Amino acid sequence: MATCLVTGGAGFLGSHLCDELLDRGNRVICVDNLETGSLANISHIRDADRFEFLGIDIIEPYFVDESIDFVYHLASPASPIDYLRLPLHTLKVGSYGTHHTLGLAKAKRARFLIASTSEVYGDPLEHPQSESYWGHVNSVGPRGVYDEAKRYAEALTMAYHRQQGVDTAIVRIFNTYGSRMRPHDGRAIPTFLRQALANRPITVFGDGSQTRSFCYVSDLIRGIIALAESGHHYPVNIGNPDEFTLLELAEIVKELTDSDAEIVYEALPEDDPKQRKPNISLARELLGWAPEVSLREGLQRTIEGSGAEILIGGGS
Ligand code: NAD
Repeated sequence: MATCLVTGGAGFLGSHLCDELLDRGNRVICVDNLETGSLANISHIRDADRFEFLGIDIIEPYFVDESIDFVYHLASPASPIDYLRLPLHTLKVGSYGTHHTLGLAKAKRARFLIASTSEVYGDPLEHPQSESYWGHVNSVGPRGVYDEAKRYAEALTMAYHRQQGVDTAIVRIFNTYGSRMRPHDGRAIPTFLRQALANRPITVFGDGSQTRSFCYVSDLIRGIIALAESGHHYPVNIGNPDEFTLLELAEIVKELTDSDAEIVYEALPEDDPKQRKPNISLARELLGWAPEVSLREGLQRTIEGSGAEILIGGGS
């Protein structure tokens, strides 16, 4: 049995990771300050023998008094609504929070994996994006706080690896969805599901021609664990390369929810990327990983796993 520490373990992805690590027989320590996460996400495992929750803000130095084999560092605001509301916090989690968590992994001689993001590619000039692409990021735009925090965190991770000998891994996560996303977190899938289920207008930004690739959460978690268990140190993309326009997504959501909601168009947010699609050749070769769940199937599972009332979540 390995002991795994998950920062951000009460968040959307972190809680699914805790579930899977427990299912695989590990001991799991979840570290979270509940800034954007929730105890409801871990209520079903809270009393499990092999699970422990620590309410810690990782921006401050912290220590855990037991041996640890794997550190999964997921804590960070992740949706635009959150990081635009918490710009300094986002930069501090990426910098101080990552320093403290890397320091802990070093002290414990643990394998460390950081959740980075496709946002490090910015509004990409290369399509699809492979790990060797260095990105096209506006450091002074409103999204810069998130993109640059993650770019800094990647640089820090490589410095701890090169200079301090920490066994590190970097996963670049592309848009992922599933149950436990907050209905009002501003990301496209929970927003469209909430609006369609309530028969309210579905709000598409711009003309809806911008593309995204959506990965179902179970596929992503499988990829993250495979990467943590590999010996690889450089970034690896994990995401689903099936690419959809936002308008196509809105139409699929309407169809699956049997909704009469009309589709309306709103102004495009600043620095909104026009295209997003991972090149996953490296993950295929290195980890034998590929996504298995199609968008329609994943959306269906999200609706069933969350329940319509939770997805609607009150308000518009
Ligand atoms: P989330 O907001 O649901 O989870 C983040 C968790 O981190 C929350 O539980 C929050 O309370 C916790 N947290 C934030 N600041 C903290 C602090 N100072 N100390 C302790 N805990 C803190 O977001 P998510 O979608 O689950 O994202 C998890 C990670 O994956 C993030 O690092 C995010 O950047 C990355 N990521 C997610 C996606 C995606 O599509 N969901 C895409 C790319 C990258």
